[in-house]
Amino acid sequence: MISVEEAIDRIVKSIHPLSDEMVMLAQAAGRVLAQDVLSRCTQPPFDVSAMDGYALRSEDAQTPTTLELIGESAAGTPFEGSVLAGQTVRIFTGAQVPEGADAIIIQEDVEAQENGRIKFHLAAVKGRHIRVQGSDFSEGDCALRAGKRLNSRDIGLAASMNAPWLKVKRRPQVAILATGDELALPGDPVGPHQIISSNALSLAANIRQWGGVPVDLGIARDNRDSLHEAARAARQADFIVSTGGVSVGDHDLVQEVLREEGLKVDFWRVAMRPGKPSLFGALQGVPMLGLPGNPVSSAICALVLLRPALEALAGVSQSHDLPFMQRGALARDLPANGKRQDYMRATRQLPDDAAGGPPLVIPFESQDSSLLSLLAQADCLAVRPPLAPAAKQGDAIDFLPLFDS
Ligand code: AMP
Ligand code: MG
Repeated sequence: MISVEEAIDRIVKSIHPLSDEMVMLAQAAGRVLAQDVLSRCTQPPFDVSAMDGYALRSEDAQTPTTLELIGESAAGTPFEGSVLAGQTVRIFTGAQVPEGADAIIIQEDVEAQENGRIKFHLAAVKGRHIRVQGSDFSEGDCALRAGKRLNSRDIGLAASMNAPWLKVKRRPQVAILATGDELALPGDPVGPHQIISSNALSLAANIRQWGGVPVDLGIARDNRDSLHEAARAARQADFIVSTGGVSVGDHDLVQEVLREEGLKVDFWRVAMRPGKPSLFGALQGVPMLGLPGNPVSSAICALVLLRPALEALAGVSQSHDLPFMQRGALARDLPANGKRQDYMRATRQLPDDAAGGPPLVIPFESQDSSLLSLLAQADCLAVRPPLAPAAKQGDAIDFLPLFDS
C-alpha cells in the first residue's frame, strides 16, 4: 500500500503529455496551451483618453482658463493635427490623444462658450486620464505561458493580443470500462438481481469537465472473455479508467485478465479511504487507472487520482485550477484515524460576516462508500491524514471543496 502523495507522484511522472494541435480562439476555452502566446500588437496602440473630455497642454491650464476648440478626436477617428499653446481638442473615451496634448480634463469640469472657446474650471494635471501606449502589453510580450489551461479571461487576453489561433494540447481520449455481472445501464430493463451502473456516466462527466473526451466502452461482465474483449478495445485510447473488479473477491478478475493482455502494474492499493484497491499501470503502453466499483470510491478516486493524470496528459504545468485544500473548523468530534488518508463527505457553513473565522466543516455521520445520495449532498471532502489523532469540535480540519466535480 502506498500513500496518496506517492500514488499521484508516480502517476504524474509516468505519463507523457499528448501531442499538439491548433485551435481557433473561439474553441480554445478549457484547452491547455502547448506554446507561449506572444502578443502580435501593443495595447493601447497609442496614448488614448480614459474619459470623455478635452485634451490640452497641461501647462496651459494651471489656473482656470479658456482655450480655443480646434477639433475632435473620437475612438477610431483621431484628430490629425497638433494641439498648440492656447488650444484644446474635444476627446472621447478610447480616442487617440492628439500630438502636443498631455492631459485630459473631463467634460463635467468645463463650460463650452458660444465663441467656440472652452472654459476650464480646474487646473490640468499632466498625464491625468491618459492611458499610455503599451500600458497593458506590448508587441512580443508573453502574457500566457505554455501549460496554462485557458479560462474566459485568458481567451479575452489572447483575443486582444490578436492571436486568432492557438497551439494547444490534444484532448485525451479516455476509455471508461465498467465491470460487473450485476450492472444494467440506466433506462435498460433491470433484472431482479441487478443494480444500475452509475460510475461510467459520473466518470464521463468528470472527464469532460477536466478537458478529456470520454469513450464509454460499456459494461464488461465478470468473466475472462468479456474482460479480454474490453481490454482489446481499451488499448486504442490515450488513457483507460475502469471501475469494479479490482479487489480480492473471486469475481474480481480485472487485474488478472489485463495482465494477460499486457498490463504492467505500477502500484495496487493506495492508503486512502475510500479507494484502497485502486490500481495504476500501463496496458500495452496506455496508462490505466483501475478504480474500485463502489460509486463513492470511484468518484473520490477520480478527483484524487484521475484528475492529476488527465492534467499530466494535457501538459498542465501547474494545477492552477485544482480544488486546492482549504482549512476549516470541525463541527463535531472525530475518532483517531487509521492508516489510510480519509476523505469524508461533508458540508460547509461559511462563518457569518460578523464572527469571521474559518468555515465550519460538518462530516456526515455515515461514510459508507455506497451512499451516492450523501456524495451528491456533500459540498466538500474533509481530509484526514493517516494516523491523525482524535479531533475535537472546533479543531482545524483540511477540506477539498467540491464545487465543480
Ligand atoms: P467491486 O469493486 O466490483 O467489488 O464493486 C463494489 C461495489 O460497487 C458493488 O456493490 C458493486 O455492485 C458496485 N458497483 C460496481 N460497479 C458499479 C457501477 N458501474 N455503478 C454502480 N455501482 C457499481
Ligand atoms: Mg464487481
